[in-house]
Amino acid sequence: MDSVENLDNDFEDILELSRRCKFSDCTHTTEPECAVKKAIYEGILSEVRFNNYYRLKKEAEYVSEKENKTKAIDYMKQKKLFQKV
Ligand SMILES: [Zn+2]
Repeated sequence: MDSVENLDNDFEDILELSRRCKFSDCTHTTEPECAVKKAIYEGILSEVRFNNYYRLKKEAEYVSEKENKTKAIDYMKQKKLFQKV
């Protein structure tokens, strides 16, 4: 299974660019002074490549969020079990 970290390694150039964005939590979509958007505009970065990165990142975030939720539910179930005992 691909983790967010693996994904970041595959798209190192985009990560490198994103470090130059004005905001550290930049999503590279609507933010002003975004280095990634600027690179796409200038033709340094392929828009297709960025879209792939963006889509994969969203997927990875969704999966890790789901995993955390499952863990949270497991934890709650365990607590309930312990209370019964
Ligand atoms: Zn950005």
